[in-house]
Amino acid sequence: MSTANDLYNFDDLCSWPQSTSDLQPPARLSVFGDPVAHSLSPQMHNPGLNEAGIDAQYVRLHIQPDQLKDALLQLKTQNFIGTNLTIPHKAAAIEFMDDIDETARHIGAVNTVLVDDEQLIGFNSDGPGFALAIREEFSVDLHDLRIMILGAGGGAGRAVAVQAAMDRCERLVLVNRTADKAEALAAELAPFFKEDRVAGPMERLEAISMDEGALTTQMDHVDLIINATSLGMKRTDPEPLPAPLIQPHHFVYDMVYSPARTHLIAQAENAGARAANGLSMLLHQGVLSFEFWFNRKAPLEAMRKGLTEALS
Ligand code: NAP
Repeated sequence: MSTANDLYNFDDLCSWPQSTSDLQPPARLSVFGDPVAHSLSPQMHNPGLNEAGIDAQYVRLHIQPDQLKDALLQLKTQNFIGTNLTIPHKAAAIEFMDDIDETARHIGAVNTVLVDDEQLIGFNSDGPGFALAIREEFSVDLHDLRIMILGAGGGAGRAVAVQAAMDRCERLVLVNRTADKAEALAAELAPFFKEDRVAGPMERLEAISMDEGALTTQMDHVDLIINATSLGMKRTDPEPLPAPLIQPHHFVYDMVYSPARTHLIAQAENAGARAANGLSMLLHQGVLSFEFWFNRKAPLEAMRKGLTEALS
């Protein structure tokens, strides 16, 4: 296999057979992003494609926002199977899809595109991938959990909140630095929480501010705490949650996966809680993308190995 280590761009895409003539197998899958050089998706998908015996490889494409529509159209003419979309394209791509699945519609974002008979079909594997990651890490389903999302106003936080609502979780507490965004999301998700399920003093669906007093009130009444803020990648980042608030009964899921053991994870473990990083979400969203593209079971362990090696 001759692999692509470099970035491709929109001009390359427009003359794809020439730009990738040195690649074997042919590049028929990609991730569009701006920036995209950091994406680990090729290191996850290429071992999976190889293991499955599929004659295609996966590359990074640097596509700028004003190029998105034309780049998506190019997929149809350049014999692509599909693409992933990352920052900043997930929400913008919706309007260029010929059809989208229910999860992508609710989340309002597409991270996986399938080219099917000249049609662009949009899916979102972030939310369902997160649900699978929680099952893998903690052996429990979103349906059975009282969930708090820190950073619910961001793209990842929204995907996870919508998934938790669609899975009819027991409680959902949306926390965001900019409180308006959490409140708007709570209003949107309210129809999922009409029936009473939890006996107790707390509302099933709440939006709260990120201050310590509001967080403290919630801690006895949540099981799963998710860090979906962009905090945690840098040593100097402030904590997304004051450490003394974490209790032994909590499951703490940090969407950050580099470093593998974030401060939040260390603090959760010190408090006697169970904790996991975001690698399992990255893996399972990739596995689901593979399954949307090929309508067959993905080689999960080959993809996990590729990802783990890329990070080590
Ligand atoms: P995003 O759309 O930019 O959202 C960032 C979120 O972080 C917002 O809620 C923002 O609050 C909050 N935030 C930023 N700085 C903050 C601060 N100083 N204090 C408190 N809150 C702060 O980013 P995203 O795409 O959702 O990504 C969020 C994180 O999830 C990133 O670390 C990303 O790498 C990770 N992620 C992981 C996976 C995975 O597969 N594991 C997938 C997607 C994303 P405001 O609304 O107030 O600005």
